[in-house]
Amino acid sequence: MTIALWLLVSLALFIALAYVNASGIAWAATAAVLIGAAWAASLLPPWLTLALAVVFVLIAPVLLVPSLRRKLVSDGVLSVFRKILPPMSQTEREAIEAGTVWWDGELFSGKPDWQKLLATPMTTLTAEEQSFLDHEVVELCEMVTDFETTNVYRDLPPRVWQYIKDNGFLGMSIPKEYGGLGFSAYAHSQVMTRLSTHSGTIAVTVMVPNSLGPGELLAHYGTEEQKRHYLPRLARGLELPCFALTNPTAGSDAASIPDYGIVCWGEHEGKRVLGLRVTWDKRYITLGPVATLLGLAFRASDPDRLLGDKEDVGITCALIPTTHPGVEIGRRHMPLNAVFQNGPTWGRDVFIPMDWVIGGQPMVGRGWRMLMECLAAGRGISLPSSGTGMAKLAVRATGGYARVRNQFKTPIEGIEEALTRMGGNLYMMDAARALTATAVDQGEKPAVLTAIAKLHITERARQVVNDGMDIVGGKGICMGPSNFLGAAYMQVPVAITVEGANILTRSLIVFGQGAIRCHPYVLKEMQAAREPDRARASAAFDAALTGHLRFALTSFARTFVMGLTGSHFVRVPANVAPRTRRYYQQLTRFSSALAFLADVSMGTLGGALKRKEKLSARLGDILSLLYLSSAALKQFEAQGRHSADEPLLHWAMWDAMFKAQNAFEGVLSNFPNRFLAVVLRRIVFPLGRPYVVPSDALGHQVAKLLIEPSATRDRLTAGVFLSRSPVNPVVQIERALAATIASEPVEAKIRAALKHRQIDGRLAPGAGVEALVARARDAGVITAAEADLVLVAREATAAVIRVDDFAQDLGASEMNVARVDPTPLAAPSSQVAHKAAA
Ligand SMILES: Cc1cc2nc3c(=O)[nH]c(=O)nc-3n(C[C@H](O)[C@H](O)[C@H](O)COP(=O)(O)OP(=O)(O)OC[C@H]3O[C@@H](n4cnc5c(N)ncnc54)[C@H](O)[C@@H]3O)c2cc1C
Repeated sequence: MTIALWLLVSLALFIALAYVNASGIAWAATAAVLIGAAWAASLLPPWLTLALAVVFVLIAPVLLVPSLRRKLVSDGVLSVFRKILPPMSQTEREAIEAGTVWWDGELFSGKPDWQKLLATPMTTLTAEEQSFLDHEVVELCEMVTDFETTNVYRDLPPRVWQYIKDNGFLGMSIPKEYGGLGFSAYAHSQVMTRLSTHSGTIAVTVMVPNSLGPGELLAHYGTEEQKRHYLPRLARGLELPCFALTNPTAGSDAASIPDYGIVCWGEHEGKRVLGLRVTWDKRYITLGPVATLLGLAFRASDPDRLLGDKEDVGITCALIPTTHPGVEIGRRHMPLNAVFQNGPTWGRDVFIPMDWVIGGQPMVGRGWRMLMECLAAGRGISLPSSGTGMAKLAVRATGGYARVRNQFKTPIEGIEEALTRMGGNLYMMDAARALTATAVDQGEKPAVLTAIAKLHITERARQVVNDGMDIVGGKGICMGPSNFLGAAYMQVPVAITVEGANILTRSLIVFGQGAIRCHPYVLKEMQAAREPDRARASAAFDAALTGHLRFALTSFARTFVMGLTGSHFVRVPANVAPRTRRYYQQLTRFSSALAFLADVSMGTLGGALKRKEKLSARLGDILSLLYLSSAALKQFEAQGRHSADEPLLHWAMWDAMFKAQNAFEGVLSNFPNRFLAVVLRRIVFPLGRPYVVPSDALGHQVAKLLIEPSATRDRLTAGVFLSRSPVNPVVQIERALAATIASEPVEAKIRAALKHRQIDGRLAPGAGVEALVARARDAGVITAAEADLVLVAREATAAVIRVDDFAQDLGASEMNVARVDPTPLAAPSSQVAHKAAA
């Protein structure tokens, strides 16, 4: 009995020490006191006390004295670690080490400092940025519709191209000193979001020059001469850039591109200069068919050692004018019926001078690092913004459509479920989009967070648009000017595939890179293992290893204790909205459980974890859901804690926590070591799995927010382009929604009169609701003005539910007529046209 008590007290004390991450001295002192107490009070058999004392005397100095510890423990572990550390190529290392760690580091720490997140000021728009959004962006949207670009021009109309170039759309991210607009990442995101609520073609066209490509690469790595020459031209649209990385044999695995450039002497503009003879075959290149400036990635090889002592110099990025002899562009792909310019480019043995390499000769072979470091803006801003834009369009229009379409009918619960998902998903997407842009504006290049934003926002955009399509039914399927969702439905997979296809990003990048970059010790251990100097390696590895062990013990203790106590005792900043306190506590618990599970997974599976992509994906999902949830909480605070928005926040949070719980379950159920899996489950969920799906009652509140005008609906769909054109389908829905809501009380009066037989509900064949309304008016049930309200609503609804139809040739002949542009600048759709315009 006394032994059991002693053991219990010891265990409790050790868990407490681990929980508070106590120092080695505190551990040793506690162990000494426990052994001393056992001896003094004869709590244990004397032989056992003696044995414990001997073990203590042998182990404590080893653990407490650094030189001893290194000699007897860490150096041995270091040599084993070096052997099992999976080999990493230069390109893999550059990809993993690129960028910075921000809030993801806190989420991986097991103890996120919420105050730090709450204190982060969200970026707001400057007056100039707001004006651009309200004027130039709106004007651009007014100029064109997706249906027109797709079916009439199969390109943007020339006047639209010109407007984009003349108004700086292609240079939003180019600094002002080089003639660009110098917008913040958040402003850029706002522009992309609004454009994406209207036309995917415009959005992609504007997106590419502002994402990873010549502008971004030049701004960071270009020589001063290259910057001064190209950036102002790019900003004014005098150059149209594209960036070509993807090869038919290297898509996702872009680091293995076979395109090559051989360092050699050659002739350029009548002079013999050092350069590269480049051969490439690229596909899917956005703006490629009409580009004037080709950003090209290829592998540089130096067989004659003209640059140094290496033959394989590495991936290199160059800028090549597309008028240069040997550059082939012009042919187009047709990406899911979207008509933004996209196509292949190729060239064989094309000689380019060395100063066309971005950053000049010193940057030959540094291309991969450049690309990885610049990836954050494109990946974290453009695609999340376009996904959010499409979702905003879907939510705004579908919510209104659902209400209008259900006039005189019973609401359908199944539709409500889809609407709820749309609202909850969009709330979280928009929050993550804004927070990621804010991080970039603070000078971060958060590699892992931008991967999360790209993956999850585009994935949720697909879900939102799919739900919208299910709700609008045939109206979403039949294409035509009044279909507001079909184009987004077709184009969503583009965002899923580009800049790191989602499956790959989920399986390899989020946790693969996150575990190394965001973990407080793993990267330090890896760097120590690669340190050639023995003494430095030993000291650095020892420090990282001891820190890591203490971290793992702390994560274990915190996970277990928070699981037992339902995380009720976790401290939360006093300044958060009271009704959100529990979320901070629960997320802290999940953060700790993730840190614990990540350590156990890495410790037991080692390099094999890299091949266990499904486990890695689920661990990444937990990290991602923690990030999305943090963003939602931050947004709720930043927007002023509107109580009317709470259903959206609560639904999104419950949904995320349930999904995170499922991801934990997915890891535990499939953990290769089954014994360990049982133990881990008891530690992570000691009292079972606590989270359930958001309730239907909560879902009902969310759906209601989508089907009637309110400040919450406006906040959720802020940025949606609402055209001045009365035939714009979204505008028609807005009008019909307002009219429907105004007419609903009148319809209720008519229904009541029918029920009480004040009026006869029987209608002659062919007579519409109008006859019933007239009867109600004549009987004095409703006034003439009220009758008008119903009739206006009927008419507005009829316009909304109308579906386009075409002549036998599907309108081809009419569209050819429409193609005569009022202000033609050049023949559309041709590379010649764009070059001429430039
Ligand atoms: C419309 C469009 C525009 C584009 N614009 C450009 C551009 O401007 N410039 C440019 O250089 N490229 C561009 N791309 C190319 C784009 O980046 C690639 O399509 C993308 O990298 C995926 O390559 P892939 O299509 O060859 O698919 P694959 O590499 O064949 O991948 C197919 C599937 O396998 C998955 N997968 C692949 N490897 C793994 C792995 N190791 N683990 C788990 N899953 C994996 C992927 O996630 C994907 O789901 C564009 C593509 C499209 C469609």
